[in-house]
Amino acid sequence: KLHNTILELKGNIRVFCRVRPLLPDSDLNDTDREVVSYPTSIEYLGRGIDLTHNAQMYTFTFDKVFNHEASQEDVFVEISQLVQSALDGYKVCIFAYGQTGSGKTYTMMGNTGCAEQKGLIPRSLEQIFQTSQSLQCQGWKYKMQASMLEIYNETIRDLLSPSRPSDGLCKQYTIKHDSNGNTIISDLTIVDVCSIKEVSFLLQQAAQSRSVGRTQMNEQSSRSHCVFTLRIFGVNEGTEQQVQGVLNLIDLAGSERLAKSGSTGDRLKETQAINKSLSALSDVIFAIGKKDDHVPFRNSKLTYLLQPCLGGDSKTLMFVNISPGASSVGESLCSLRFAARVN
Ligand code: ADP
Ligand code: MG
Repeated sequence: KLHNTILELKGNIRVFCRVRPLLPDSDLNDTDREVVSYPTSIEYLGRGIDLTHNAQMYTFTFDKVFNHEASQEDVFVEISQLVQSALDGYKVCIFAYGQTGSGKTYTMMGNTGCAEQKGLIPRSLEQIFQTSQSLQCQGWKYKMQASMLEIYNETIRDLLSPSRPSDGLCKQYTIKHDSNGNTIISDLTIVDVCSIKEVSFLLQQAAQSRSVGRTQMNEQSSRSHCVFTLRIFGVNEGTEQQVQGVLNLIDLAGSERLAKSGSTGDRLKETQAINKSLSALSDVIFAIGKKDDHVPFRNSKLTYLLQPCLGGDSKTLMFVNISPGASSVGESLCSLRFAARVN
């Protein structure tokens, strides 16, 4: 009951938790160890998740908890309405939060080579294009624009730039908000998209751009936030009604804490940047939820960039992704606590 009251206060902010299956390859240590009973110690009580750590049990409640059996389709069904509202003129943000390896990219992008394993981004785009076409007979004409960027160490990288310099970090992109509440990023590539084919091509290009960065810059993709933005402009030729919606799909940097020993130099700077921006995000969502007068958007690039799409009558959903392995239990607890704060 308490939870319902909190939800009403929060209005447009929801949190979904998703636990991925145990993977034989990457969770090898967990299968080796006796403590593999950990996944079975998670109980799914509708919207609740229990987790046992150091003989203590912790219980969390979210708007929805998906267990390891939830398919990409199962998850999409629960968000399709939210995606749809971008076509109705809402500003929508969907985040994936969690430690590296917990399933953020799987949830957001998925395995694009396999229809069943496609993630939220391709599914959302398919739905948006389909719906926008079916609305044509009611007089609606839509124009869509896509952009995709990465924020690494508080620096923006354009993932769709046709002439991205090989180090990818040469240009200094600046973020501005105009009086209409639009975000303008200097020099960022914005592509008009008319079909799912075109967007699929862009997503491929961006994935390539990301992986190039990865080999050159030390597993950078898990250390950076990836922001996909679709702007939607709709005009009804009959009624002359106009709508402007935005859909932001954000694969956040890994939330794991770095071992205290050995974190020096670049690695330390990287971790500090991630910590700073993730806690800035939590502060912003928390302040919006409390309806604070002052929301500290300017404390990180990510929150400043998304300022017009957070708060107001915009809609925000955060996935907290969880690894089921025993070796991840400490990080899982941190992620659940983070999510509980914004929920
Ligand atoms: P992250 O982006 O959080 O670092 P990934 O999305 O790359 O994590 O997931 C790590 C691994 O787990 C990948 O091999 C991915 O395919 C797999 N995985 C994640 N979630 C699921 C899931 N729900 N079902 C099956 N495999 C998953
Ligand atoms: Mg990832």
